[in-house]
Amino acid sequence: MARIKRARPSLLIVAILALGSYVLGCTPPKPEAESQAPAEQQKAPEDSEQTAKPDQANSASTGKYSPVQARARDFYAPNSEDLGPDEMRLIACGTGMPTARPKQAASCWLLELGNGDKFIFDVGTGSNERIAALQIPYNYLDKVFLSHLHTDHFGDLDALFVGGALSGRQRPLRVWGPSGATPERGTKYALDHLQKALTWDLDGRKGLTDPRGYHMEVTEFDYMGVNEIVYQENGVAIRSIPAIHALDGPVSFIVEWNGFKFVFGGDTYPNKWYAKYAKDADLAIHECFVTVPDMIEKFKFSPQGALSVGTQIHTAPEAFGKVMSIIKPRMAVAYHFFKDFDTTAGINDRIRTTYDGPLSLSIDYMVWNITKDEIRVRMAIVDEDVWPPPATDKPQLPDPNARIPYSDEIIGGKLDVSKVLQPTYDAINKQYGLHEKQD
Ligand SMILES: [Zn+2]
Ligand SMILES: [Zn+2]
Repeated sequence: MARIKRARPSLLIVAILALGSYVLGCTPPKPEAESQAPAEQQKAPEDSEQTAKPDQANSASTGKYSPVQARARDFYAPNSEDLGPDEMRLIACGTGMPTARPKQAASCWLLELGNGDKFIFDVGTGSNERIAALQIPYNYLDKVFLSHLHTDHFGDLDALFVGGALSGRQRPLRVWGPSGATPERGTKYALDHLQKALTWDLDGRKGLTDPRGYHMEVTEFDYMGVNEIVYQENGVAIRSIPAIHALDGPVSFIVEWNGFKFVFGGDTYPNKWYAKYAKDADLAIHECFVTVPDMIEKFKFSPQGALSVGTQIHTAPEAFGKVMSIIKPRMAVAYHFFKDFDTTAGINDRIRTTYDGPLSLSIDYMVWNITKDEIRVRMAIVDEDVWPPPATDKPQLPDPNARIPYSDEIIGGKLDVSKVLQPTYDAINKQYGLHEKQD
């Protein structure tokens, strides 16, 4: 666990060094960071240590720990902590690459605000199981913002769309994404066709489940808009800025709420819009690609391909550092690299040639709690046996008449197992006072 406080420069350094020692976490900046700490941090009140958890404060002052009382957790357990009204929580649900691996899903970020709003930024391949592990009722997971239409940024949208509806989202899934240079390269075209691809899936669920979640509301906005509002509700404004990546179309997002600024950068070559509009963010996410030598050695790219993809289509670590040294966030977050024992140091070393501020080299399930006073960085420990959380509203019973029947040929192939199933019907009917019959 690490805490970045605005309290005092010395605390800031302790927190950053703790961050560095954390095996999955982050690495320390050069010592001169102390002298370059933002003025805001240097003049913050002296008493902010009091914001520590009571038992931490007690043990720090007495040196004693209770043999029977639990100490404060230094990890985040989903569904175990309230979120303060002036607090944001960000959870990395995917930090990796288009190449699938168990350790890292592709880009996905859940932002939770103290006003109750939750936003998903990107929903890359493999990320839906991370979202599920957070045990958040799906009615609250109904807003998705896509940075662009590479599968490592929207490849699990189908799983969230259908699986979310099946698990308690009783309202449409709202999705925002950019237009393209032509209509067929835009978000609306992609998601219209994604829903068409799901025709069999959706038809097969008619009459069997609560139907309200199986709809998508797509809002496509101009990818060339510069700091234009794409969402504004409930005191939250989300703007988009263009990004430079593969083709015209990709964007990054800037969220402003309650005096906070959160920036989610999609894939991009370093660009002037991010440098301008992400300035002074409380937390700024930006892609940071695998180093060119690792692309050649581990990904088996040609040297030419590694240079092109690793420095021109994406942002190389040293360029990531340059961007962050311009915008000076309270916390910089790097993603889009395979974070392993033998890749992390190379990424860090290159970033540290150009940036010495607060830094998180992200991995899936990293958690940031952000208040005006501090940014606390931890890992989430999740329950792999998780089941769907409760629905927040009463389910609507399906209309059996909406079912699409089997053909006579197919239904004629049923084996008669009604006798072995009847005891289950009898037991459930008795327990719940029902009169259900087999088809
Ligand atoms: Zn991409
Ligand atoms: Zn990507």
